[in-house]
Amino acid sequence: MPRDYYNVLGVDENASDDEIKKAYRKKAMEYHPDRNPDDPEAEQKFKEASEAYEVLSDPEKRQRYDQFGHSGLGDGGGGGRGRGRGFHDIEDIFDAFSDIFGGARGAGRGRGRSGRADRGRGRPGSDLRVSLSLTLEEIAEGTEKNLKLQKYMECESCDGTGAEGGMGGQNFSMCPKCDGTGEIRQVSRSVFGQMVNVQPCPRCEGEGRIIENLCDECGGEGRVQGEETISINVPPGVMEGNYLTLGEAGNAGLRGGPSGDLRVEIEEEPHEHFERDGLDIYHDLHISFPEAALGTEVDVPTLEGRARLEVEPGVQAGKILRMRNRGLPDLEGHGQGDQMIRVHVWTPQDLTPEERELIDQLRDHENFQPQPADEEPEKSFFRRVSDVFS
Ligand SMILES: [Zn+2]
Ligand SMILES: [Zn+2]
Repeated sequence: MPRDYYNVLGVDENASDDEIKKAYRKKAMEYHPDRNPDDPEAEQKFKEASEAYEVLSDPEKRQRYDQFGHSGLGDGGGGGRGRGRGFHDIEDIFDAFSDIFGGARGAGRGRGRSGRADRGRGRPGSDLRVSLSLTLEEIAEGTEKNLKLQKYMECESCDGTGAEGGMGGQNFSMCPKCDGTGEIRQVSRSVFGQMVNVQPCPRCEGEGRIIENLCDECGGEGRVQGEETISINVPPGVMEGNYLTLGEAGNAGLRGGPSGDLRVEIEEEPHEHFERDGLDIYHDLHISFPEAALGTEVDVPTLEGRARLEVEPGVQAGKILRMRNRGLPDLEGHGQGDQMIRVHVWTPQDLTPEERELIDQLRDHENFQPQPADEEPEKSFFRRVSDVFS
């Protein structure tokens, strides 16, 4: 008995689309097979969550499910995607291409009806993995990006069947070798008794039917190399290593098999002014020795443009000024990080004779003698931080 989809995602039956999306994202991140290698329980939970989301995120399916439960969806469950297909390893985009450039089209005709016994009916397409490079500004705001993908797409001239004329054509006949079962059984006797060996039929590659005339366009593969531009919505607050999975946006399957998924991995571009630490960003501010002693007002960069910052007289090198809520938003919507300003005091290295004399006069003044505060080292970081308004 399949589990209740609302329970799977941990939302109630009146949950909004947004709540469902958030709940799914949380589960998917928690149980993703890449984060839980060799953990069948996590894999199961991941599949359940994907299945639940597939149904609950589609208004039509959700309504059918609310009305008739799992039986309303046919196929005993959530539309079939992800079921039975298993979670095969994510193949790299380059694998997909080596396949293409390895001459699938040219060789396809030659190997047409035999020699591909490993490929059963409707073999799924491989997943695609691409990286998407974002600036901190884009991460702060969220962004929409267009990605151009080179991938296998369903062959239009045969509707993905691989047969001349496609769905409308009369191009299939029952495989005479296996009588349409797609399997060859061999019975042998041995000292252990009778053994039955079942293998996919080599003639029809397990499909149970054979194509009379292969589609010219795709050489019988049911898919061709193509290019597609898709638009990706990136929510605010992502970080390097996060990824977005778009179901069925990967490579088309063979002969009508399901498409693989597209996985978009987030990369963070190095920033001219900031270093990221979780939700906080750090900026190095260099001020002169007189500015440190007398105080100053400076313009500092923020993710939303320049901001005015007041530096108190007597600021020490190493001081960290915190500009609240000028950092990055949390992906789950829990608040926002801060911008930290690390104060560096520039010590002049080349001095003219007059400059040397001026500073020399200050050398022995009482207030110029260092008076470091005694602090416990583990507390010193927090003591160095002070809040500023900007
Ligand atoms: Zn075709
Ligand atoms: Zn056969």
